[in-house]
Amino acid sequence: MALERTFSIIKPDATRRNLTGKIVAKLEEGGLRVVASRRIHMARRQAEAFYAVHKERPFFGELVDFMVSGPVVVQVLEGEDAIARNREIMGATDPKKAAPGTIRAEFAESIGENSVHGSDGPETAKEEIAYFFAGSDIVG
Ligand code: ATP
Ligand code: MG
Repeated sequence: MALERTFSIIKPDATRRNLTGKIVAKLEEGGLRVVASRRIHMARRQAEAFYAVHKERPFFGELVDFMVSGPVVVQVLEGEDAIARNREIMGATDPKKAAPGTIRAEFAESIGENSVHGSDGPETAKEEIAYFFAGSDIVG
């Protein structure tokens, strides 16, 4: 295992319910460290570009509407095996299928409004981090 970095978003359903601290606590308890963090309100074009890989999926419009519906917290997480570890702590996309104790099992409202995003591999982690953060914003 190696020290790795991944990209995380606390989504608008979670910031609306003031769950930022509870979600960060779960990430930290799971062995990840927040090495960069910023609260932003994404522009529509920014959300469309971020989720471009999903643009042919039927839920794309709904997903972009949701991601610009309120503030989000973009973060870089660091830890051993951080990409897989973060996805374990998040739980399955659909909260009904997420393992007990995971962020999505405890907090997500639906498959769309599911509280968090996490990169799905080393390439996407690198791209997604660079999309929101300069190297100098990240302090490990
Ligand atoms: P994320 O990329 O947000 O970490 P994920 O990798 O678990 O989640 P993806 O398949 O990449 O899931 O889908 C991206 C996001 O699109 C999901 O987190 C969810 O917000 C939304 N989404 C996925 N499937 C559906 C669906 N069937 N209906 C509505 N929204 C969906
Ligand atoms: Mg994904």
